[in-house]
Amino acid sequence: MDFEFDPRDDAFRQEVRAFVRDNLPADIARRGLTNYHTDKADTRAWTAILHGRGWSAPSWPVQFGGTGWTLMQQFIFDQECFAAGAPLLETGGLKMIGPVIYTFGSKEQHERFNVPFLRGEISWGQGFSEPNAGSDLAGLTTAAVRDGDHYVVNGRKLWTSGAQWANWLFCLVKTDPKERQRGISMILIKADAPGVTIRPIIDLGEGHHLNEMFFDNVRVPAENLVGEEGKGWTYAKFLLENERAFSAEVPRNKRNLALLRRIAADRKYRGRPFAEDPAFAARIEQLQSDLDSLEWMTLRALTAKSSGDLSLPVGSILKVRGTELQQKIGEMQVEALGEYGAIVYPHDQHVNGADDALGPDYAPGVLADFLYRRAVTIYGGSNEIQRTILAKQYLGL
Ligand SMILES: Cc1cc2nc3c(=O)[nH]c(=O)nc-3n(C[C@H](O)[C@H](O)[C@H](O)COP(=O)(O)OP(=O)(O)OC[C@H]3O[C@@H](n4cnc5c(N)ncnc54)[C@H](O)[C@@H]3O)c2cc1C
Repeated sequence: MDFEFDPRDDAFRQEVRAFVRDNLPADIARRGLTNYHTDKADTRAWTAILHGRGWSAPSWPVQFGGTGWTLMQQFIFDQECFAAGAPLLETGGLKMIGPVIYTFGSKEQHERFNVPFLRGEISWGQGFSEPNAGSDLAGLTTAAVRDGDHYVVNGRKLWTSGAQWANWLFCLVKTDPKERQRGISMILIKADAPGVTIRPIIDLGEGHHLNEMFFDNVRVPAENLVGEEGKGWTYAKFLLENERAFSAEVPRNKRNLALLRRIAADRKYRGRPFAEDPAFAARIEQLQSDLDSLEWMTLRALTAKSSGDLSLPVGSILKVRGTELQQKIGEMQVEALGEYGAIVYPHDQHVNGADDALGPDYAPGVLADFLYRRAVTIYGGSNEIQRTILAKQYLGL
């Protein structure tokens, strides 16, 4: 296998870097380089800018409005954008429901949802998990009962990221309560439809990212069903594999490791910088080596996938390694920050002005991000579940 970057990929990297340098607004980049959640307005504005260049769907085929880029080009694009502080494009629409719609949905749904999404006009929420259905997702009970031209939806969803900004929700519902997986369908629900209530859940870092949602006799037009009734489980598996492959987050890990090096060079322990403490320095180099192998593993997976080799459960491997690395880097950032690592600066206070933060400019956001990233080994299917998938599919246990 050849791991050299093709000269065309290097030229592509330069092209992306120049575009980002010339077009990413400075205030968006400033907010993006903190470790807080991206403001939805920034994500939409950046999506619209990329759309002007035809780049707002790096992973989609050309016929659906995407770039048609190779997996390697997408990887390079993500790295360049993230390193410069560009907001991550919205995963819900780009990696999850968008591809489900153009693969399994109707042409009308593609025109109605995907096309405006690519212009930065629509935000999505993912309504899968419920109070008693997380790892055991097939046990969900939110019901959709057909009534003429509509489905009537009743139930409760939990942990919905970003629902407060969403215009639309892609939800898994039970259309046949007698069946488990075969009774599940996927439906698109307007976030402000009568009967939908969205309540905030405030997290450890004092941020509002999560929500619970209640559906009380919500009438949803039958045309909002995606694909066929009873096939929602198949579509969900397709979507979750995309979500997991994304969660290796090599660009985020790279940026966070660079920040850790900066903190370690700057902050002192017993009179000398952390970076000069042999034990601390050795731990950083161990993380660097873990990151290098994660990057190579990602490149290997991309190479295999490009050549049609789908034998490895790649999404699960990348998710486990990438998320554990995120947590380890965050732990060391907080440790090296010392007393400044003990203060939570809530997102709104810091990012939107009223900034009376103590300490160095890189301190705010580190603890909030560290606390939020406790969740990365849980969402998208917990790492315990991913290990079970690997044991079964890869090791044949
Ligand atoms: C920050 C965050 C954002 C999220 N965003 C969304 C979202 O936008 N939309 C959405 O639908 N959901 C979202 N989720 C929900 C997420 O998908 C679930 O939390 C996850 O699937 C785990 O489900 P659970 O919380 O019900 O835990 P449970 O399934 O109850 O699991 C609890 C613990 O038991 C372990 N466990 C469970 N079953 C097994 C098993 N068979 N073998 C070994 N161990 C097992 C799990 O690994 C976990 O450690 C989000 C969660 C978080 C924390």
